[in-house]
Amino acid sequence: MKDIAIVGGGPAGALCGERLASCGFKVTIFDERLAWEKPCGGGLTHKAIETYPFLLDSPYPKKIIRTAELISSRGHRARFEMNHPIVIYARKVLNGLLLDRAVAAGCTAVCSRVTNVNTNGERVRLMVEGEERVSDFVVLASGARNQLLPDTTALGADDLEMTLGYFVPTEENIIKIKFLKEFEGYLWSFPRADHLSVGICARMGQTTSQQLRRHLDAFVVEEKIPTAGAQLYSHVLPSPQAKTIRGRRIVGNNWAMAGDAAATVDPITGEGLYYALRSGDLLAHALAQGAPQEYPERLRAAFSADLEFAANIAKKVFRGNFVGGAITTRMVQLLNYSPAFRDLVRDIFSGSQSYRTLKRRLWGQLGITVAEFTHSFLDPRRRRPISSPSEHETPIDTR
Ligand SMILES: Cc1cc2nc3c(=O)[nH]c(=O)nc-3n(C[C@H](O)[C@H](O)[C@H](O)COP(=O)(O)OP(=O)(O)OC[C@H]3O[C@@H](n4cnc5c(N)ncnc54)[C@H](O)[C@@H]3O)c2cc1C
Repeated sequence: MKDIAIVGGGPAGALCGERLASCGFKVTIFDERLAWEKPCGGGLTHKAIETYPFLLDSPYPKKIIRTAELISSRGHRARFEMNHPIVIYARKVLNGLLLDRAVAAGCTAVCSRVTNVNTNGERVRLMVEGEERVSDFVVLASGARNQLLPDTTALGADDLEMTLGYFVPTEENIIKIKFLKEFEGYLWSFPRADHLSVGICARMGQTTSQQLRRHLDAFVVEEKIPTAGAQLYSHVLPSPQAKTIRGRRIVGNNWAMAGDAAATVDPITGEGLYYALRSGDLLAHALAQGAPQEYPERLRAAFSADLEFAANIAKKVFRGNFVGGAITTRMVQLLNYSPAFRDLVRDIFSGSQSYRTLKRRLWGQLGITVAEFTHSFLDPRRRRPISSPSEHETPIDTR
């Protein structure tokens, strides 16, 4: 195997290409837009930065955010410092950085749309703007809307979320996340170098785009985000069901999928950048070792077993109740009143807390959390009414 074609020059395709070209393969990346402002928050967690330190060290413009605020559907707020910052890029910048690295490693980047992929013959045949191109292997990293499906199924509505948002030309220094009542999704505001990405995500089919727009516009007003010059965006995001993560075919004889095309997205948080990079990386390693068939197993060992666990609990997280209130509301309250719980949320934000060990940790520290909550709640110096909107501006100090 010598020639590899990659369809899609987003994080998954670009990193896969860079790794393959570094191993001596002749790699061509086809992307209909190359570096572009793909609708996205652009947030990279600590686990992404730890695995790919160039994302922090690069001279490309980015925003480093250390403070986050969670807002419950009833308006409770909890602001906290993260133990590792989140690094936020505009996607045009991030894609440009990754493609530059791929080209520097030896890839050829072609700005063209691939309209067909035929993997039935000895060599792969791609139709690129009316011309046939051949390769020995094709990596499909063409995102959530991927239509190129050799011998596998498309992601259905049950595996997807709808997103809607604004790029707003204003500056901020904190990440905000707001939950809604009995709603599988959330609103966010992610500050970038010179603008904000504000948006909402929800399971496909559970909400109409008009409802999403209403929630989004209400959030923008509540958070006093100026909308002059704001640009509206919309995109789909994989939110795979457990059975899709476990059973969907993502590799064949001469093809494999990576990133959103392979549905490597956290079904609770919607984090996809780290998994796109990591899947592209793992696929490149498997190909360089002549063992593409081992790629799904390596993906599973690295993270997809954890994502499968997340898919099983996602509904409960957003719609479940705990001691008479929504889990998301209790989460915001506990963040204010329990330092042990705050440490746990910090670890979730940095990506160092896996879903599979979360239950054990929650049970293990339940006693401490309840004791801290009771102590804090009963202490009048620490206690503040948290449901009154006038208190929203003031974070509760639990130090
Ligand atoms: C609104 C929104 C907010 C998000 N926020 C975050 C976040 O803050 N943090 C996070 O970690 N993740 C976030 N995600 C998820 C993240 O954007 C994706 O997981 C990530 O972009 C996946 O990378 P990828 O390379 O697999 O696909 P993409 O980034 O979608 O790249 C696919 C590329 O393929 C190209 N392409 C597609 N079809 C063809 C074709 N036929 N021919 C040629 N080129 C083609 C496209 O032009 C595109 O450049 C968000 C997603 C959405 C929708």
